[in-house]
Amino acid sequence: AETDPSQTGTKIRPEALRENFRKLDRQQWWLWSTTVLVLILLTIAIASFEFPSILSKEQETYSFYLNQAVRALVGLVLVFSVYLVYQQTMIIRMRNQLAEQLESLTKVQNLTNEVYKLAALDQLTGLYNRRFCKDYARKLMAMARRKDTPLGFLILDLDHFKNINDVYGHEIGDRILKQFSKTVTQSMRETNLTARLGGEEFIILLPDTGAKACQVVAERIRNAVARMSVPQVKEKPIPPITVSLGIAVYPEHGASLEEMLQASDRALYESKRSGRNRSALYSEEKEITG
Ligand code: GH3
Ligand code: MG
Ligand code: MG
Repeated sequence: AETDPSQTGTKIRPEALRENFRKLDRQQWWLWSTTVLVLILLTIAIASFEFPSILSKEQETYSFYLNQAVRALVGLVLVFSVYLVYQQTMIIRMRNQLAEQLESLTKVQNLTNEVYKLAALDQLTGLYNRRFCKDYARKLMAMARRKDTPLGFLILDLDHFKNINDVYGHEIGDRILKQFSKTVTQSMRETNLTARLGGEEFIILLPDTGAKACQVVAERIRNAVARMSVPQVKEKPIPPITVSLGIAVYPEHGASLEEMLQASDRALYESKRSGRNRSALYSEEKEITG
């Protein structure tokens, strides 16, 4: 996806380098073949020079010069062969060095990915974490300003989650959090950013999405969560998990990220106050009465 933040930065492609290696191998093979061919041809040429001089005993001086010329030629071929072998070993050495570098490059790349995951992703759910999300939200806000389009903020908070932990244990709670994250991301477009703000609180940023469309998305998520299957324990069946959502739209409901988070929090509070398992859009009136 275009706005997937994990896809930023330049990528070095090891496959392209590997293809170059294969080309190098083919070229080397070609070089060896032609070398062998040239050596064979030279040998034949020398042999055909030598034969007539062996057969005819005449023209001693001519034969002497021919002998010298042949020796010189053989010497040259030998020198050339030694030089070729030397070149080949140099090429092989360079090739091995390149292969090593390629390997360490791949290692660095993998390490960079690991570090990125540690820095930007939440360990439990694999969603983006709070810090990354805040940085990214500011970028999306700047983009929304430039393009003059709305940016939707959805804050999600699981209902009575403390009860789940108290009754079924923290481990079951964690499993439900993972299941919940999966359900949410599956019911979202890829261009939307989902992050865990902490605990059982999440945020979704929706570029190019106004209040009406945000409400539709919020309801879709709410329904998907209410319908999701929860892990079952023998002793006590786990009741359906529900979520409450607060909606605010940038720049309508706030000028800064802090104001936007406050506005969506207020809307969330309104959902909780009016009975949970619902979504609410931020409005000024509720701010006064709430
Ligand atoms: P409400 O409907 O008002 O949101 O009630 P609630 O119980 O969900 O609200 P509250 O914020 O009081 O409780 C949040 C609970 O979420 C507290 C804690 O037990 C649980 N929780 C927070 N983080 C984690 C976590 O990483 N794993 C698990 N298993 N539970 C967590
Ligand atoms: Mg809660
Ligand atoms: Mg909470």
